[in-house]
Amino acid sequence: MRCKSALLSLMFPGILVALPVLGGWLWAPQSHVLTTLLPTIAALLIVAALLVSWRFSCSRLVLLCVLLVVHECVLSGFIDLFPAWQLLLPVNLLLLSVVGERPVVSLAMLYRLGLIVMQPVVLFVLATTLAEEYQRLVALHWSFSTPFVPFSLNLSLYEIIVTLVALALLLRVVWRPSMESSVLLWALLLICTAQLSDVQARVPVVVLHGLLILIVLVSVFERSYTLAFRDELTGLPSRRAFLDFVNRRSSGYSLAIVDIDHFKKVNDTHGHDVGDQVLKRVAGRLAAVSNGGKAFRYGGEEFVVLFYRRDVERVNDALDLLRQSIADTPFVLRQKPRPEKRPRRVVATKDRQPSLRVTVSIGVSHWHKGADLDGVIKRADQALYKAKKTGRNRVVKG
Ligand code: GH3
Ligand code: MG
Ligand code: MG
Repeated sequence: MRCKSALLSLMFPGILVALPVLGGWLWAPQSHVLTTLLPTIAALLIVAALLVSWRFSCSRLVLLCVLLVVHECVLSGFIDLFPAWQLLLPVNLLLLSVVGERPVVSLAMLYRLGLIVMQPVVLFVLATTLAEEYQRLVALHWSFSTPFVPFSLNLSLYEIIVTLVALALLLRVVWRPSMESSVLLWALLLICTAQLSDVQARVPVVVLHGLLILIVLVSVFERSYTLAFRDELTGLPSRRAFLDFVNRRSSGYSLAIVDIDHFKKVNDTHGHDVGDQVLKRVAGRLAAVSNGGKAFRYGGEEFVVLFYRRDVERVNDALDLLRQSIADTPFVLRQKPRPEKRPRRVVATKDRQPSLRVTVSIGVSHWHKGADLDGVIKRADQALYKAKKTGRNRVVKG
């Protein structure tokens, strides 16, 4: 699951970055209109990204925009500083990936902004007062030879920093997949590719940054979408996503409400954290429901599974299989339960890791001509109530 979301969050901005870079290699804007228009559009994008990141409280993306603006100023105004600044840029990107979010208008943000803006100033002072040492540092090269590589590598300080930072950012994306970390990694790769190739000489840097900013904007919207339509705990689409999904399909669906049995007891007996683990595991099972069902977290310990244009009998079979598989498989707990009361249903598996069995009750109703969503939900709810009344761990049709 983690690998899949890491891959997705990497690929999406990756493609957005790779295409224009390739385009920049193959094609450089020649016409006067384009060379003046593109930087203007890019500058407008930066302003838009700053406003949107601020409005959506994405403080790290605000900092990224400012960092890109500073990078651009150094490139165009203080070209002598560039060799040293380019050592600092990857480090800044790495720091951005680890600092926490803060309110956009806050003292912490002021410090962070100050830190970014001050760096070229400090570099300027160092470059003018310690010119010789500065030049020596920038020109540093190391040679590496290892038994694994048949040739020796001659790397500059810049290349070493970029490689290490890129690896660290990649690890971060794999460990905690998010669009924002991925944007930072791609920002680094884009800037470096542009520097190491001749793209930067042919395409105005502001245009490359404009593209990055576009990715920033996309990631802000993606984050807002995730907040609105995904349930944070289970990763399933949320109740809002369910309503959105089903409102677009006014007919031909079956709807099941799945409720974990005696879930309050799980919380009381093993603690809220274990309750959360159980919710995640049940959600994982529901997400893999057969016969084309789509699972949503409806709220609390209730889920909805929606089948669109599916054979009613096969829907019932799929739901019963689901119920059975949840009832038959003990959930191995990842941490020692911290019971509030004495545990009743904890059983020891072979390796003595504590595990827990839960069951679900399911009420299902099928859309029929003239029915509206509220009616279908109501019937599924009544069926669920019946399932609870008649002993739980069963599927009842409404
Ligand atoms: P029944 O078999 O009749 O459904 O009984 P139940 O105990 O499952 O149902 P009840 O509605 O009494 O309790 C639901 C519990 O679910 C109460 C609430 O604390 C817990 N719950 C709701 N959301 C969460 C959550 O996100 N995490 C955890 N750990 N517990 C939650
Ligand atoms: Mg329940
Ligand atoms: Mg309930």
